[in-house]
Amino acid sequence: MTEQLNDAAATAAELAGEAAGLSGKDLLLWAGQRFEGRLAFATSLGLEDQVLTDLIVRSGAKIPLFTIDTGKLPEQTLRLIEQTERRYCLEIEVLRPDAEEVRKMTRRHGPAPYYTSVELRKLCCHVRKVAVLRRRLAGLDAWVCGLRREQSVTREDVDTVQWDGANRLVKLNPLADWTLDKVWTYVRKHDVPYNALHDENYPSIGCLPCTRAVLAGRDIRSGRWWWEEPEQKECGLHVVQGRLVRKGERLAH
Ligand code: SF4
Repeated sequence: MTEQLNDAAATAAELAGEAAGLSGKDLLLWAGQRFEGRLAFATSLGLEDQVLTDLIVRSGAKIPLFTIDTGKLPEQTLRLIEQTERRYCLEIEVLRPDAEEVRKMTRRHGPAPYYTSVELRKLCCHVRKVAVLRRRLAGLDAWVCGLRREQSVTREDVDTVQWDGANRLVKLNPLADWTLDKVWTYVRKHDVPYNALHDENYPSIGCLPCTRAVLAGRDIRSGRWWWEEPEQKECGLHVVQGRLVRKGERLAH
């Protein structure tokens, strides 16, 4: 499979064809078999990712879970890691940023670089999240994410199966076509554990300094990096060929 992945365009198209019509649990089952031992689920413990955890467990797909503790997560998120492990009798691998890289960044730019400029916010996201993710994804052929098209302008072109050019592997988004209503319906029906902050008007939850509650009816990502323009609001975990995917652009597989 690793050799095949060198021909990114052909492989992504072929895989998308194989998985055509599959979503949710069926896609996870297919992926678990297709990429056995070379696939992982990166969970942020967000609502969509909690649904995916539930679907993975129900499907029986052999997909290991990992998460990134940036060192800036709200305590509610940290509590949810333990709660999820207990509920599903599984272990979530918790990865942390390189302590020396964090020290270097804070020595040079202060303890809260994210409020200084978009560039320094992206540097912080890179040190605390992206670099950690890249290390974990090295050697894998595919990863599972909870992205949905309707989440933001940066995610309108998300496909169920797509080539992740930034990380050089296949990205699977089993909930790509799910609406937020469908996600909540699933959570309530199956009593999926979720972050207590969702009940305090935090629809999208990241690091504590970069997340706030949103007013009813506002864009669900408006509480993330609220001082930036909507098209800048990604942490770098989900970029295509080194850039963010913006409204109207198609993904180049
Ligand atoms: S979300 Fe904020 S605190 Fe977290 S890594 Fe990005 S800039 Fe840093």
